[in-house]
Amino acid sequence: MPRNRTVKDYIRTIVDFPHEGIMFRDVTTLFADARGFRMAIDQMLHPYAGERIDKVVGLEARGFILGGAVAHQLSVGFVPIRKKGKLPGTTISQEYQLEYGEAIVEIHDDAIQAGEKILLVDDLLATGGTAEAGIKLIERLGGEIVGCAFVVDLPDLGGRKKLEEMGMDVHALCA
Ligand code: IMP
Repeated sequence: MPRNRTVKDYIRTIVDFPHEGIMFRDVTTLFADARGFRMAIDQMLHPYAGERIDKVVGLEARGFILGGAVAHQLSVGFVPIRKKGKLPGTTISQEYQLEYGEAIVEIHDDAIQAGEKILLVDDLLATGGTAEAGIKLIERLGGEIVGCAFVVDLPDLGGRKKLEEMGMDVHALCA
């Protein structure tokens, strides 16, 4: 295997998953490779070197894998945003639109203190609906978002534009 592979080289595309016509970006092959995974974590953090970050927030489910590693690297805490009904403590909820229907994500209401600087992490930015819901939850708790970091950005689906219009700094490693 060549030593100069980029993050994108480790990501596999699965055709027609989860339904026909979808080209699913499978980042498990990136996570499974020691060099690829380390490269991704390092590159996700690169723009934020020297900035104050108090907590990392990850979106279910692959955002937990990335966010946990990013938080460990920064020696800060990690906070999960989960689908409705999964978190055991008192939560606040945010609804968002899916292609067909709606979904709800939740965060523990004591997970972020007002004024804390937050880095939001997920594997992939598509329409931006999931990240937008996460941003709203963080901001409702008084968190200040330093940036939103993704491995993959699919810019044609409009997510980057949506988040930038919300005033977010969007950082992605590949398209
Ligand atoms: P969005 O809300 O449309 O931006 O979709 C992003 C969310 O859906 C993220 O939490 C991703 O994990 C997931 N997602 C959508 N498409 C893919 C894909 O091709 N590969 C991996 N995750 C995806």
